[in-house]
Order: sequence, then C-alpha cells, then structure tokens
Amino acid sequence: MKYISTRGQSPAQSFCEILLGGLAPDGGLYLPETYPHFSDAELAQMRGMTYPELAFAVLSRFATDIPADDLKAIIDKTYTAEVYCNVRAGEDAQDITPLHTLEPGLALLCLSNGPTLAFKDMAMQLLGNLFEYVLAKAGQGINILGATSGDTGSSAEYAMRGKQGVNVFMLSPHGKMSRFQTAQMFSLQDPNIYNIAVKGVFDDCQDIVKAVSNDHAFKQANRIGAVNSINWARVAAQIVYYFKGYFAATTDNSQQVSFTVPSGNFGNVCAGHIARMMGLPIRHLVVATNENDVLDEFFRTGVYRPRGAANTWHTSSPSMDISKASNFERFVFDLVGRDADQVRELWGEVDNGGAFNLNVGGSFANVTEFGFQSGASSHANRMQTIRNVWETYGVMIDTHTADGVKVALEYREAGVPMLVLETALPAKFEDSIREALGRDPVRPAGMEALESLPQRFEVMEADAEAIKGFIVQHTRLGQSH
Ligand SMILES: *Cc1c(COP(=O)(O)O)cnc(C)c1O
Repeated sequence: MKYISTRGQSPAQSFCEILLGGLAPDGGLYLPETYPHFSDAELAQMRGMTYPELAFAVLSRFATDIPADDLKAIIDKTYTAEVYCNVRAGEDAQDITPLHTLEPGLALLCLSNGPTLAFKDMAMQLLGNLFEYVLAKAGQGINILGATSGDTGSSAEYAMRGKQGVNVFMLSPHGKMSRFQTAQMFSLQDPNIYNIAVKGVFDDCQDIVKAVSNDHAFKQANRIGAVNSINWARVAAQIVYYFKGYFAATTDNSQQVSFTVPSGNFGNVCAGHIARMMGLPIRHLVVATNENDVLDEFFRTGVYRPRGAANTWHTSSPSMDISKASNFERFVFDLVGRDADQVRELWGEVDNGGAFNLNVGGSFANVTEFGFQSGASSHANRMQTIRNVWETYGVMIDTHTADGVKVALEYREAGVPMLVLETALPAKFEDSIREALGRDPVRPAGMEALESLPQRFEVMEADAEAIKGFIVQHTRLGQSH
C-alpha cells in the first residue's frame, strides 16, 4: 500500500515512510492510493473478532511494510484491558470500546477508557508503540514538539512516556489549563517527557511550534517531529472502532448503522468516512460541532470558510474549539473525485485566509452519496443534554459527548441504530458537570488525588529561541542508544 498526497505533487510513500512526518512536501495530506475493501464474507468473519484481532485485520491492510508478526505484536501490546480499563461498571474492559446502549436504537460507543480519559488515546497509544518500533529499526531518535490546550498533549505524553528514542517537549499556556488536565500532564515523572508552561496563551505556544518547524536547519539537526491530528497512522487507528461499534450494534451485515461524531479537526469522522469506503455498512455519518461551526456550515451550504483565531470561541467543549479543520482536506479530496489539481486550487484559497464554495461546481451534491449530515450545539444545549441523559438513563456524559447526543437526536431514523462516539469522560470537565448537574463526576480509580501528586514542569517565556535552547540542552537521543 502506497500513500499519495491530496495535492498530487509529492511522490508516493509507504506507511513507515510517512509515519513520523506530518504534511506531504507539497503541503497536502497523505491518503491511501486506493481504499482496501472488505467483502461481505470478510465482514462476516470479522464479526466475532476481539478488538486486537479486528485492529490487525484493518491495519494490516494499511501498514503493509511492517511484517505481520511485528504488527500483531505492536497491536497486542497496545489494545489491552490494562491500558483501556476505565470502563463504567458492568462493562467489560476486554471490549476496549464497549457499546453502552441508552435505549433501543441509541447507544454510546465508549472510546474514553484510555489513560487520559479521551478518545485520542485510542490512536495515540498505538502511535507510541509504532514510533518506538520504527525508530529502533532505523537506529534513530525523535524530538516531538507540540502545543496543547489539553487533550492532545496529555494523550501524546501518556503514549510516548518511557519510549526508547522519543523525547516529548510539550508547550502549554501557563496557568490556563484546567487543574485536572494540568495535573494529568505535569505529574508525569518520566525523564523523556518535558512539560513547558509558556507565559502566554495557546496561540503563543502554537506560534513557537510553527517558528521552530520553519527553521529547517534546526528541525533537521535536532530531528524535530510532531504527533498532530493529520498524522495518517492516527486516522488509520481510528477506523478500527467504527468496525467494532458496527458489529456490536448489529447481528448481520445486511443491517446499517449511523454514527454521530463530535468533531473539531475532522480526524475522527474522517476515519468513519474511510471505514464506510472500505465497505462497512454505515448509513449516515453525522458531524456534530459546537459554536465553532465551520464544519456544520460546510455540510449545510457547501461553503468552507475557516475562521481566524480571533473568531474562534472558547466553549464548554474546548477540544472542539477550532478555527479550521486540519483533516478536512482528506475528505474533500474524495468529494471532488480525487482531483488533486482542484484540491490544490481550493487550498490555495484557504491557505491565503480565504474560503471556497463547492456548491457552484457541483461536487457538493456528492455529500449525500458519502452519507454526511451535520448539526451544532450551544452551551445551553449541552447543559440540557447532560441533564436529560443523566435523568433519563442514569449515565453521566461530558460536554463533547453531549454535543454528539444533541445532534444525534435530530437525525435518528427508525430501524437504524444511532451510535454516538463518546469522546471524553465527564471527570475531565468537572466545572461543566457541576454547572449542569450540581454535583461532581466520579473519577476513575487511582485518579482521586491527581492534583496532589508532585508536578514536574518548566515555566518559560514565549520565546522560540529560548525553547530551541531548552530542546538542545535536554536532548537525550544519544543516550537512548
Ligand atoms: C479531539 C477531540 C474532539 C475532536 O476530534 P477531531 O478528530 O479533532 O474531530 C472531540 N472531543 C474530544 C473530547 C476531543 O479530545
């Protein structure tokens, strides 16, 4: 399997060749040359599989340059009941992503049982083990530099902690993350994890990452890498749980299900799109956004109009507060019939701060054929939904999942199970739960006293040169081999 760029001007590469990188050299995103397809007979065979077996069935079609035995060992080490153990009472940790039925035809696909209580662990944990494997083979190391306001950074740190050949330098805005998220990250004592609290806001952190990445000489000399949401392996890993959810909700392959996906950068729902292209009987993929509704606007009107940072709202579902959806280009590539010239033209507009309208050329009509629908929620909607789900089903959901449930209810159809992707646990967003329910969410065992653990972090000025100096000073790549 080779991977091509959505902008059509980079050479095709293998899975391992694109694993550690980000964008293709032409600025595009990598996608498989063609999507593998599962026949009816193959789907029937996959129906009884455990999560790791299913992950191997799916990922072995994509990671064709990793020997099967090695890939299987990496997957088996990643998807264990020990790693994904924060399940609700009565659900089986062996399922990894248990399906929690709220009522007939409506269920939560629980994806937040990993170490940081959000769905990003599903892909990131695999990425940690893949990185270690590929780096060891090449006898190399990598310095991962990232900026976070919460979920992505902690998920990356818990995936990369203790990994041979990997250092993580994670920038976060000093004093601006929730106490829980700060404690989750800063309590890590692993010597290869560096938390840098930057005196500034999230955008300052992101600007520093950009400045360092644009210094090509520094980047190359210090082997700077990233684990951002456009990473192909992350998308690929997320495809697996659509299969798992489908099989859990159906009894044979003539049945269809729909998924609602709380969305920000479009990585999660893009994986659903690819699962559908691979033959999984998905009826609808419902994109749910919060007040930052750039995606909802597109699916309603055909206009993609990214907002600037200044027009991005801070909401009670902060992990979906995006101004543009970094994975969206992958879907548009398929939507316009894989016409790389057109994608290059469209993102020529976007990269210059502009917008595009697919309703004029005709490709927007294909959105229906690809099964997409969309909706949005407000803060009041999410609070009400958290209350309704608690009162009706006795289940506590977080603000992101609440966004999904709110929109899902607008698109339910008789006879088609609607699965809402649970993207985080309520324990991560205590203030919002207190506001909605007047009580605190229960924390998973072992996390009750997270905030009182000793913290390890460095406070630094928002200064790219100082951060570069810190990286050079603390690089331990030489020592890991
Ligand atoms: C990252 C995240 C999302 C958005 O997922 P995308 O793949 O960026 O669309 C939604 N909810 C939570 C809790 C997240 O952490």
